[in-house]
Amino acid sequence: MFTITPFTLGPIEENTYILYNGAGDCIIIDPGCYFGNERRELADYIAANELRPKYLLNTHCHFDHVFGNRFVHDTYGLEAHLHPEEQPVLQNAAISGLEWGFPFDNYKGPLHLLRENDSITLGKDELKVLFTPGHSPGHVCFYCAAQHFVIGGDVLFRQSVGRTDLPGQNFATLEHSIRTRLYVLPGETVVWPGHGEPTTIGFEKANNPFVRG
Ligand SMILES: [Zn+2]
Ligand SMILES: [Zn+2]
Repeated sequence: MFTITPFTLGPIEENTYILYNGAGDCIIIDPGCYFGNERRELADYIAANELRPKYLLNTHCHFDHVFGNRFVHDTYGLEAHLHPEEQPVLQNAAISGLEWGFPFDNYKGPLHLLRENDSITLGKDELKVLFTPGHSPGHVCFYCAAQHFVIGGDVLFRQSVGRTDLPGQNFATLEHSIRTRLYVLPGETVVWPGHGEPTTIGFEKANNPFVRG
């Protein structure tokens, strides 16, 4: 069974997730650690719980979600897993960070490409890849059917959705992703988002002002 630990990190309060199982193996999703103390916080948590990092996953590659990719690679030897359509987004992340006033050392290691319906397994536990573009061209969510949760990145937030006003973004595509990949999940499914508090699919279908179920 996965235990989910969220960390809110970086100058724009991005949610980083560590998922670990009973054997102490863990997955790091969207490491947004930007400042040195945040990198220590993540590393201290991993050390204190005697976790063995096995996978580095990115829902998408906006700079706030990849600030810590290089740190995770350098510290634990993990290589990034992301959708092929996020490769240009990752390549542009450092420039984009600089434009927003957040310079950082980008990840330059090997890439492992994720596609819809791929599964990432940690012992007996499994995450399935959902392809959910719109906020970013190769955005994916990681769905755990057995435990009714999804690591949602910047697709669906509590009573909000990911922004679609910048180049490479499209609201109709985002809405289609939400309707066909997320709103079809059981209502009790907990959405752990890239920003803000968790929510559920059922709550958003009833209350989300942007995409009503
Ligand atoms: Zn984003
Ligand atoms: Zn974000």
